[in-house]
Amino acid sequence: MAARLPCGAPGTHGGHFVVIDPATGEGFDAAPDRQPDELDAVVDRARTAWHGWRDDPVARRTALLAAADAVEAAGADLAPLLTREQGKPLAESHAEVARTAARLRYFAEMDHGPQRIADGRPVRSEIRWRPLGPVAAIVPWNFPLQLASAKFAPALAAGNTMVLKPSPYTPLATRLLGSVVSTALPEDVLTIVTGREPLGARLASHPGIRHVTFTGSIPTGRAVAEGAAASLARVTLELGGNDAAILLEDVDVEGIADRLFWAAFRNCGQVCMAVKRVYAPVRLYSEVVEALAQRAKTAVVGPGLDPGSQLGPVNNAPQLARVERYTNQALADGARVAAGGCRLDRPGYFFAPTILADVPAGSPVVTEEQFGPVLPVLPYGSLDEVVEAANSTAFGLGGSVWGTDLDRAETVADRLECGTAWINHHAELSLAQPFAGIKESGVGVAGGPWGLYGNLRPFVVHRQEEARP
Ligand code: NAD
Repeated sequence: MAARLPCGAPGTHGGHFVVIDPATGEGFDAAPDRQPDELDAVVDRARTAWHGWRDDPVARRTALLAAADAVEAAGADLAPLLTREQGKPLAESHAEVARTAARLRYFAEMDHGPQRIADGRPVRSEIRWRPLGPVAAIVPWNFPLQLASAKFAPALAAGNTMVLKPSPYTPLATRLLGSVVSTALPEDVLTIVTGREPLGARLASHPGIRHVTFTGSIPTGRAVAEGAAASLARVTLELGGNDAAILLEDVDVEGIADRLFWAAFRNCGQVCMAVKRVYAPVRLYSEVVEALAQRAKTAVVGPGLDPGSQLGPVNNAPQLARVERYTNQALADGARVAAGGCRLDRPGYFFAPTILADVPAGSPVVTEEQFGPVLPVLPYGSLDEVVEAANSTAFGLGGSVWGTDLDRAETVADRLECGTAWINHHAELSLAQPFAGIKESGVGVAGGPWGLYGNLRPFVVHRQEEARP
């Protein structure tokens, strides 16, 4: 359905809401605007489907492997649609599709059979891992397919069913993904519901849901936890980050600059675990600012569907306004623009890749999450000072340390208060790795077997082996 709307204006059309292409700022399609009162029937069906799905691990494995094949086969439809609504370069959308299929295979093959507890007593005590029931998932717009699969692959492999709500900014590729995956699954095992608030709030607090797994911002995460408290459903929250990258005195600036730049700017900086602050020693400060600025000035910005584009637009109008607000505030606070610094003069939500130097440590672009193509670079004097600065925010998702002496870098990384610390890299995650933010960045663990067990409960059978008088 075509729809022409002013930039960023939300709108409805016959029970649908308009989806905007961020590369043009205009509506190009629409998604069903499901209402909160429709969720009762959806959750009921998910509960009914659970009774068959939970009991047959062999059928589950076969179905999830078939779903992975179906996702791969649908890549040519999924990836361009994802780019159209999200903005990212097409190659990155294809990578998201590939990761989604890989994740389905990874969890389909993961065993969660019974475990014996050996504690020396004359009893046979065994844990039988049981699924929880219908799980609700709520995800954001930065990696719609990858984050949806990070929810449904472990939850379904564990024997749960799922009702998943994508962001209203990116509902279309997830809806298509849901239909593709569902071709391999029994009916109602995975349901995608699209709609605007208060749909998510109702889903999080629905009494028929036994686990709410949420990825998004910290304020919404808090609201989700409050909603789920009504039914005391389990809550997993993967929230915002403000990752620091600390460059050490012995860093090879030119050698790492490309990696560091893209760790901050991939997906237009809209990555929870992107580098969001760079700390450079005073002696190297100008060199680091210059190296990053040079890359920001030469990065190719354009629509994600253009083959040459390395950076697409910001996903949506409120996010663009936020990026602009943080940048302007930093400039008002005394920062200097080393590259970029403003919107691009063209249709769509484009913002020039921006490097900010001489940013005061208290400016919101340093203390909060900009989630966009703007990177502050700050100088530091001593290691103690920089570790304290890196740990000084309410966030605790990731961090990185960059240098030539790897042991020394690891000693510094060990002092970071976060869930993952990288050395000479940032935001690299394998499917087998746990991912867990601390402080306000999250509750619970995603990834690897920990992600699977987050969707299971221990049922313990305790059998007395010896007769007692
Ligand atoms: P958001 O919190 O605004 O929205 C996330 C989802 O919650 C969307 O589907 C939205 O429609 C829904 N929602 C909004 N209000 C709700 C409510 N009251 N109750 C229930 N659901 C509600 O976040 P966003 O702007 O879409 O995403 C960006 C944020 O996500 C950033 O903070 C980023 O760091 C974070 N994020 C975290 C991770 C991680 O793994 N830690 C990964 C990706 C993104």
